Amino acid sequence: MHDRLTNWNGVPRVRLATLATPLERGPLVPGGVRLWVKRDDLTGLGMGGNKARKLEFLCGDAMANGADALVTVGAGQSNHCRMTAAAGSLLGCETHLVLAGDRPARLEGNQLLSDRFGAHLHFTGAGPAEWGVLEIERERLTDELTAAGAHPYSIPIGGSTDVGALGYVVAYDEIVEQCADSGFVPEAIVFTSSSGGTHAGLVAGRAARRARGLAHPPVVAIGVAKGVVAGFPDVAELATGALRRAGLAGEVRPDDVEVDARWLGADYAIPTAASEAAATWAAHHGAWVLDGVYTAKGMAGFLGNAAESRWPAGSNVVWIHTGGQPEVFVSHG
Ligand SMILES: *Cc1c(COP(=O)(O)O)cnc(C)c1O
Repeated sequence: MHDRLTNWNGVPRVRLATLATPLERGPLVPGGVRLWVKRDDLTGLGMGGNKARKLEFLCGDAMANGADALVTVGAGQSNHCRMTAAAGSLLGCETHLVLAGDRPARLEGNQLLSDRFGAHLHFTGAGPAEWGVLEIERERLTDELTAAGAHPYSIPIGGSTDVGALGYVVAYDEIVEQCADSGFVPEAIVFTSSSGGTHAGLVAGRAARRARGLAHPPVVAIGVAKGVVAGFPDVAELATGALRRAGLAGEVRPDDVEVDARWLGADYAIPTAASEAAATWAAHHGAWVLDGVYTAKGMAGFLGNAAESRWPAGSNVVWIHTGGQPEVFVSHG
């Protein structure tokens, strides 16, 4: 397991993801913008997704602290929990997942995979958006494991800490450099946001490049959970924490943080007409597979902003595909 341990700017990092992920040239979309898709659904770890990048730093921190177990928490169909289970399997760490909902008669999607990776699934009966209840249960379970003599590393929802955000500080550089290789500076980088860690990392990565006088395109988060559209967590604070942890120069400005809240619909994980249309559009225009909880709403947000002519015709915009495919195969109702 320790052959995977390395460091980035002095911060411990375990190599778990297959990087760099591809940057694909997509079509011109209504509004005249060229779409580029950053394939972070192809990070590899346990079927991929954005959490692999965060887990490289979270598990690095866990190893550096001598942890022998991982604990985390999420919605019933949490991609973050599934990828944490995959990381635990690779690192030989017992993994505990605190999940919303009740144990179904038959495990599906992310739960099926988490179970196959050998994680312990703890069903709480909590509603899918009751994140406070879930976090309290995570803390209780962490204390219980500690009392039993284990050394658990406990990860908040979505892995969205200043440590986890470092994964997207790295990704921001990767994206801007791949765009430069293709001969352009993107007009914006758009992505789906829920627990805020991806957003914080991108904002920090941008601030670090700005401080070095390099190209630093703005980032636009499409919010798909009530918390993040209401300003929780504080993305600027998380981003500043990530910069300080890696010893990077850079200041986060209040207007660096933008969450477009118009694509959430009724609530987290409830589809909208626009998200269903976006999933079909993506399947037809690039064979991209989007999930209903996250990326379909994120793509709806990208297409909606482009159609409103937010970016000049002929410009290039990167949309990050953050993963989520296991949810596509889950039966609803
Ligand atoms: C977790 C997740 C997101 C949101 O990332 P955060 O860092 O939690 O904001 C987006 N898309 C998918 C598929 C995810 O699993």
